[in-house]
Amino acid sequence: MRLLLIEDDDRIAGPLTEGLGRYGFTVDHVRTGAAGLARTDGSPDLVLLDLGLPDMDGLDVCRSLRARSAVPIIMITARGEEADRVVGLELGADDYLAKPFGVRELVARIRAVTRRTTGALPFPPPAHPRTPEAPGPQTLGALRINRRTRQVHVGGREIPLTPREFDLLAHLAEDPGTVCSRQQIMDTVWDPHFFGPTKTLDAHVAALRRKLGDPAWITTARGVGFRLTVPGDDASPGAAG
Ligand code: CA
Repeated sequence: MRLLLIEDDDRIAGPLTEGLGRYGFTVDHVRTGAAGLARTDGSPDLVLLDLGLPDMDGLDVCRSLRARSAVPIIMITARGEEADRVVGLELGADDYLAKPFGVRELVARIRAVTRRTTGALPFPPPAHPRTPEAPGPQTLGALRINRRTRQVHVGGREIPLTPREFDLLAHLAEDPGTVCSRQQIMDTVWDPHFFGPTKTLDAHVAALRRKLGDPAWITTARGVGFRLTVPGDDASPGAAG
């Protein structure tokens, strides 16, 4: 599914493009209303429209888009633009999201709008993030994770984790040995604002390492993120049984 993102703020557009890419969307990003209107000839499947654009009023972009196309439009609005949202919806926008918001929330809106406007999901469910429905506990070396009961054992000893620590561990354990980027973890485990600080992630990783009893369980991929590895099991980090 191809999305046209009309957003002048790269601090929002960058993470958004990357995040949506991980959900399988192709994002065409432009920074002005004029460029956005020019680009609709490429017939995107959906338009994400920031209302605060440098060259023209986002509402005018919305009106022009709707005049030439039935393409679904989701407005991205800033705080204090309540009136604009109402006008935008009257002009034919299908939905809106107020900044700041998480990628998951946006994907949910995209799905809802797509369902409403086409009556079907024109794209397969995302490959990521996965939500494993494994009925039995997952075993990684001495580590045992039971997602059903949300219990974690190391060497038979139960490790008390906070809900967030459990979610973080379960996320890293979905693909042992594979690096999860910080942004990916924040999106999946926290669903944060795009540009929020991620210090809390480091604090949770530190707590997990402490509780698991061996810092080697979670390896830092410098500048990228973290991965779960079975200590002393470098040869087959993905081994699960
Ligand atoms: Ca803007």
